Amino acid sequence: MSQFDYDLFVIGAGSGGVRAARISASHGAKVAIAEEYRVGGTCVIRGCVPKKMLVYGSMFAEELSHAEKYGWSVGEKSFDWAALRDFVNGDVDRLEGLYGKTLESHDVELIAERATIAGPNTVKLASGREITAKHILIAVGAWPAMPDFPGVEHCISSNEIFHLEQQPKCLMVVGGGYIAMEFAGIFNALGSEVTVVNRSDKILRSYDDQIVERMLHIAMGRGINFRMHSEIKSVERTAEGCLSVDLGESNRVQVDQILIATGRNPKTDGLGLENAGVQLGEKGEIIVDEYNRTSCESIYAVGDVTDRVQLTPVAIREGHAFADSVFGGNPRTIDYDFIPSAVFSQPPLAGVGMTEKEARRTHGNVRVYSSDFRPMKNIFSPHAERGLYKMIVDDTSGKILGIHMIGPESPEILQVAAVALKAGLTKDAFDDTVALHPSMAEELVLLK
Ligand code: FAD
Repeated sequence: MSQFDYDLFVIGAGSGGVRAARISASHGAKVAIAEEYRVGGTCVIRGCVPKKMLVYGSMFAEELSHAEKYGWSVGEKSFDWAALRDFVNGDVDRLEGLYGKTLESHDVELIAERATIAGPNTVKLASGREITAKHILIAVGAWPAMPDFPGVEHCISSNEIFHLEQQPKCLMVVGGGYIAMEFAGIFNALGSEVTVVNRSDKILRSYDDQIVERMLHIAMGRGINFRMHSEIKSVERTAEGCLSVDLGESNRVQVDQILIATGRNPKTDGLGLENAGVQLGEKGEIIVDEYNRTSCESIYAVGDVTDRVQLTPVAIREGHAFADSVFGGNPRTIDYDFIPSAVFSQPPLAGVGMTEKEARRTHGNVRVYSSDFRPMKNIFSPHAERGLYKMIVDDTSGKILGIHMIGPESPEILQVAAVALKAGLTKDAFDDTVALHPSMAEELVLLK
């Protein structure tokens, strides 16, 4: 008989926690998982999934007008935000149910309560009950960072945007990261007037400069306003119910919704980590080693709470590696090289490996191949938007160091191209591959 109630207690049923719980249970561990909100976590409930559905929903505005050019009679078009919102949230409910069933079918006990750390082997539930476990895994994710200015309580974060009563006529989006660009694109396509406010003139910092420049050019062409080097000083609600935003230097703007998307901080506040001596970094992230071990021997952490790479597939891999290491007799780490990522802006952009700037800094001599083309899909676009693909190659070895692209479907294309980088392929391998015509992806094997 074990001296503990469980072999593993997981705090947080999101991407990392669910995978870790399920795999640990399949290795024979007795597992419980606590969730304070909804099973599935950020990605499923208020992140990747509902966001991508909103992107799809918003793209119909353009696609319906293309359809007419292809001979379809579309009739009178109108858009109903509540219908899209409810459809998306309905699918989120369905997915939440599936995640719950997965836990159940793997004999993981789900405890629908907030849990905190009471000691190296003890968690305390919101109800006051204490539970012991041989190992504890913290997978509580991250939380939107909200700036501190008078009236910030009138603003929303990405958590709330999926539940808006009404589509904003005028939306201000604060931030220059991927979440800001994605929601700016969604609401612009849906017909809202969108203004992006950013503290510096740099957006999407981790992506290639030229690709980001193209994104900005296209976004402005589509009517998104950008106010760079700008910051909100205060927000007031007017008698008419609008939000009056003071941007300093006598700049006052009225909007009806403000989305703050200025990053996400590890959700470690009030988690009781001091009760087990779990060390935190400067941003409040849990410090872990390559095996996801914290400074307390019995406690591990995976996913956004460790602030390594805040992406779902990474949290899932970390959770899986944890389970295999601790319960599967197969200690393993994960490889953080060449993680592909995308921004589902309109059009989307995607990248893997080094940007041109990084490659020049670290490798000196690099070759840059690019294709600046007009996708066939865009022939009816009034904006004549062009795609741009770039490949960065090490001049000495010929190995590909990075691929970056913007254009329709670029995340779908980049996922496959990322395999080539992971396999250490050279540009020659792409040149040797026959083009698949007509496609946008063929530009990758025709790069000059
Ligand atoms: P989470 O999925 O956040 O799960 C943590 C869970 O812990 C939550 O369910 C939370 O309620 C629960 N919890 C917290 N504290 C406690 C507690 N004390 N007790 C009990 N339960 C607790 N990633 C991508 O890869 N692609 C994308 O396109 C993408 N889009 C995104 C869009 C948005 C708007 C956002 C916000 C995020 C997006 N992400 C995307 C990031 C992705 O959602 C996260 O990287 C991922 O969910 C991290 O998984 P996790 O397991 O670390 O945490």
